[in-house]
Amino acid sequence: MTFQQLQLIPPIIKALAKENYTQPTPIQEQAIPPVLAGRDLFGCAQTGTGKTAAFLLPIIQLLSTQQGRPNGKRVIRSLILTPTRELAIQISDNAKAYGCFTNLRYGVIVGGVSQRPQEQLLEQGMDILIATPGRLIDLMNQGFVDLSHVQILVLDEADRMLDMGFIHDMKRIIAKLPVKRQTLFFSATMPPEITSLVNSLLKNPVKIEITPVSSTAERIKQMLYYVDKPNKLLLLIDLLQDKSIASALVFTRTKHGADRVVRGLTKAKITAQAIHGDKSQNARQAALNNFKSGATRLLVATDIAARGIDIEELSHVINYNLPNIPETYVHRIGRTGRAGLSGIAISFCENEEIPYLKDIEKLTKQKIPVVTDHPYPMTMTEPVPATVGADRANGAPSKDGARGHSGKSGGGRRRRRPHAGK
Ligand code: AMP
Repeated sequence: MTFQQLQLIPPIIKALAKENYTQPTPIQEQAIPPVLAGRDLFGCAQTGTGKTAAFLLPIIQLLSTQQGRPNGKRVIRSLILTPTRELAIQISDNAKAYGCFTNLRYGVIVGGVSQRPQEQLLEQGMDILIATPGRLIDLMNQGFVDLSHVQILVLDEADRMLDMGFIHDMKRIIAKLPVKRQTLFFSATMPPEITSLVNSLLKNPVKIEITPVSSTAERIKQMLYYVDKPNKLLLLIDLLQDKSIASALVFTRTKHGADRVVRGLTKAKITAQAIHGDKSQNARQAALNNFKSGATRLLVATDIAARGIDIEELSHVINYNLPNIPETYVHRIGRTGRAGLSGIAISFCENEEIPYLKDIEKLTKQKIPVVTDHPYPMTMTEPVPATVGADRANGAPSKDGARGHSGKSGGGRRRRRPHAGK
């Protein structure tokens, strides 16, 4: 299947060629035709599947080819709601790239930055508005937003918006939209609240499911380290002595946890930055840019902050804490091994996280291979089921999924305790 076969217009085809996209991903193949035909859509898909282009490309086409298009002041023609600021900015960057040969206007409305330029943006009107619910509601309450011309609504990562407590804001925003509109709804998981939202918001939708969330991609090598909580940082520092881990996204449960890990890594002279909701928008963007450019080796994030991060070719994901929602594990590790590359997902499990591990293994119907030969084995309770033995997590990912070897260190692993802060 080619983009031409999906009946996309030449300005979009040209933009995709510029992005080096050679062929549509499965979700794009399945979503673009019905969206172009005006249908509502429910897409069950994770990030990394190409879902952003799956909704942006047909929206750009529909809006740029519409006859007699309304473009008065304050007119907003399509609205994309998304949970995080980073994701909003990412979507906007994608929209600009895919629409660079059309003359559509885009705008982003997110919290954490000054409101004034956003008021001006809304005053001018735009074809595609990408917003996080909180700031949009603030501006709506102040009378700056007119949603009465919106023809297409996208709810992106709807499950995450629910998790973040945006349900009431979402409902209040949607209540201001015309009833006659096209709605595209994306969620990576299908909890009951999502099913009822889908049923209430979508009219006869086309349903597309890409890689059910319970399945972890085979190309991702998973490994589990049982470790006592006080030793997690030391274990992380030890693993990072392996230079083949060129960069990694590290997940912690809390913002404070993320800051603590960064402080510890910094003391051990490992470059790391945290990205979470307490940081200013500029600090988060700077951390992300440093990570993308390779200036920082580790990005330490909470789930919510990481949600919008799009990093291509991420080789390692490290779960410093296991998530209490098993689907989140699948999301997290799905951030590596994209675009045909293999990846490595390393998880630390402390005593109190064993129930989370059980939930994850139940969902994925897989046992995560356990690494038993490491310097900080768990000393507490529960027997550790050994499935991997001496295997270590020190391989760089490769195209064929085989793990590289840090040949020089051979079996003689470093057992010294690195000088780490607590
Ligand atoms: P998403 O699932 O929307 O977060 O997209 C994941 C990544 O895949 C992004 O970096 C996109 O730029 C990239 N991408 C999306 N569609 C394609 C495509 N057809 N070919 C190659 N890369 C793509």
